[in-house]
Amino acid sequence: MNKSDTERIIGILSEFDYIETDIEKDADLLIINTCSIRQLSADKAYSKLGVWGKWKKSNPNLKIAICGCVAQQDKEKVRKRAPYIDLIFGTHNIYELPELIKKIEDNEKVCAITNKPFVCNQNDFKIIRKKSVNAWIPIIEGCNNFCTYCVVPFTRGRERSRYPDEIIQEAKNILNEGFKEITLLGQNVDSYGKDLNDKNITLANLLRELNKIDGEFRIRFVTSYPSDITDDLINAVDECEKVCKYFHIPMQSGNSRILKEMNRHYTKEQYYEIVSKIRNRFPDVAITSDFIAGFPGETEQEFQDTLDAIDELELDYSNTAAYSPREFTKAGKMVDKFLPEDVKYERLERLNEKNRQACLKSNEKFIGKELKVLVEDKTEKDGIITLNSRADNNKIVHFVDNSLNVGDFANVKITKAQTWCLYGEPVV
Ligand code: SF4
Repeated sequence: MNKSDTERIIGILSEFDYIETDIEKDADLLIINTCSIRQLSADKAYSKLGVWGKWKKSNPNLKIAICGCVAQQDKEKVRKRAPYIDLIFGTHNIYELPELIKKIEDNEKVCAITNKPFVCNQNDFKIIRKKSVNAWIPIIEGCNNFCTYCVVPFTRGRERSRYPDEIIQEAKNILNEGFKEITLLGQNVDSYGKDLNDKNITLANLLRELNKIDGEFRIRFVTSYPSDITDDLINAVDECEKVCKYFHIPMQSGNSRILKEMNRHYTKEQYYEIVSKIRNRFPDVAITSDFIAGFPGETEQEFQDTLDAIDELELDYSNTAAYSPREFTKAGKMVDKFLPEDVKYERLERLNEKNRQACLKSNEKFIGKELKVLVEDKTEKDGIITLNSRADNNKIVHFVDNSLNVGDFANVKITKAQTWCLYGEPVV
């Protein structure tokens, strides 16, 4: 979501004749788009601001801005740590940027943080997309789930869906520009439409509408909340040939007591049921997940349940993190249950090792199979050009074929598997 916001910010700035530079020190305006999901990300943002603050001493015309979740959460407090900052704007204030930029260009110090989104048609604003074949489209922002460890409902607010017409128009624009894959984004993407009070506006129906657009392209959607994956959504994925057979479904813990403590609205058994339903329907599907090691009060046996779940569910890949207490959250107040840092990080290491084994096992299943891939970029080494591509199920596939270009689709027979990727040969 942050990357998509950044593309929107760059698009708005381009209307002001700002040109992006790779050399930070050359910039007249520096903006950091922050994430506060873990303390480490917030610390990194403040450390970057510290470096930029020193540059401002030798270049007083330099403007510095912070946005994203740290800005939304810390508001004016940012100035205590970085008094030289010109602009602080929140996650709901991106579309007010034209006004805000004018103010800081007039040397005003601005803090624009609202809890309500700026109402607008997002298609009225230019977007400069970073990737050449894959474009992100946010379809719902915010979250109503209040997992006890998560700061998102406080920084991104409650769920707000965009209307289907606006999304379909954005998709058509993207495809006309030559993009070959669209990824529908939401903190809780399967909740799409629930706030719009129209039972026909659902993720499943949006997929069906997008699938009708002419042309060869693919559609993905992330991130799914386990208990919000409906049979209708699974049916839509099945019916729509352009929708990738790939699900990212964070489980967070393999233990039902910990899931309850996390305020996740499903049990271990219910999660297993959803995975089995999806695997039965799509034999070559990839299912990826997220896990937290060392949630407050987690016992060794409860952590072991997480390791077992990765094996039993044959998960294809998982994002992992050690528990990091966040301000405002319920779990952040469970201080007496916090695990020592060394215990959390030792568990994280074991979780990462389990993830590596699971990925390799999952990749090895594809040796000898044929996958349809989309070429995302090329790399050259010793005169050999390798195509870096992604299969429908999100597996990364490298292969050599001098007749193909970035943006081409191809069928590839998998010949070798490594932990994080596959190698193959084009099928002619
Ligand atoms: S569902 Fe995801 S975004 Fe929402 S509160 Fe839980 S972890 Fe955070």
